[in-house]
Amino acid sequence: MGIFEKLGLKKEEKLDKGVEKSRDGLLGKLGKAFVGKDKVDAATLDELEDILITSDVGVKTTIEIINRIEDRVARDKFITQSDLQKILREEIAALLMESGDDRPVEFDAEFKQKPHIVMVVGVNGVGKTTSIGKLAYMYKKAGKDVMLGAADTFRAAAVEQLEIWSERAGVPLIQQGQNADPAAVAYDTVSSAKSKSADIAFVDTAGRLHNKKSLMNELGKIKRVMGKVVDDAPHEILLVLDASTGQNAMQQARAFTDVVDVTGLILTKLDGTAKGGIVIGISNELKVPVKYIGVGESIEDLQVFDKKAFVDALFGKSHT
Ligand code: GDP
Ligand code: GDP
Ligand code: MG
Repeated sequence: MGIFEKLGLKKEEKLDKGVEKSRDGLLGKLGKAFVGKDKVDAATLDELEDILITSDVGVKTTIEIINRIEDRVARDKFITQSDLQKILREEIAALLMESGDDRPVEFDAEFKQKPHIVMVVGVNGVGKTTSIGKLAYMYKKAGKDVMLGAADTFRAAAVEQLEIWSERAGVPLIQQGQNADPAAVAYDTVSSAKSKSADIAFVDTAGRLHNKKSLMNELGKIKRVMGKVVDDAPHEILLVLDASTGQNAMQQARAFTDVVDVTGLILTKLDGTAKGGIVIGISNELKVPVKYIGVGESIEDLQVFDKKAFVDALFGKSHT
């Protein structure tokens, strides 16, 4: 049984709603590019290029997609709007599949090592704390022993915010209050997870700008300290990116992946943006898998990223 059945969630409906704006944007613009035409011409491809770039697919990935489509258009001379939509869907799906395993990330796999330590990083306001709350809920519901660590000690109310999520999800929180040394909190969290034989622990961190070197170094310290308690901890470093910030998210992703070994991405706020194309560009350019997507503000609004389901939701149900 898949996790969504276990959770009793209607996965497809949520995903459909989550990418509604992106889908309407993409298909709407595609329709307009075709007004008064009965086949794809050079001008349509130019417009398609603009559409992809303004959907935040990114220049590099857009060019790859356009090149693939040009090849096909050159082969099959007569291509209608619905053909183009179908080809675009196929090429985007192919590109996503090439960027890694085509299966959704195995979320409830047996962890190689217990406790499995996950550190969550990113700039301010992208949705780190919220995503941790949702993850705690997801893993708890799947029967895992979850623990949270409040290593964002920098901002007032950051600890309280995580505390509220820990209560909602019904999982314990390790904290030392505001202004505590984040590395010390991380150390405590991992020690506690180890002594209580927790399955998984999520460690929240303060938002930091990727261009502030000292703060980026602080992440290195937090990470090292965890490794002293449990071998190879943190086992995962998840970078959270706000999908609605488009190319800015792409830059953050490049900067963070340069200094920390990011093992996966959480793309939040897909529900609030028409620029869901970022999902395609980011997986293609960074070769770091998108593991989860945020499609709303409530506790159930986090999904394990499923490439195939994403393409289906983006283009509407396939009729072929
Ligand atoms: P942090 O600073 O990275 O820890 O960000 P927070 O977790 O505090 O989230 C910042 C804001 O983004 C909050 O108002 C959240 O409710 C909101 N948020 C987070 N994830 C999502 C999402 O997937 N969709 C929407 N619509 N809002 C989200
Ligand atoms: P400013 O543009 O340098 O004024 O940046 P801020 O107002 O964000 O932060 C002021 C100072 O607080 C910075 O020089 C940092 O040393 C420190 N600081 C900011 N954010 C963080 C954080 O997330 N963690 C920690 N430990 N220190 C921070
Ligand atoms: Mg936070």
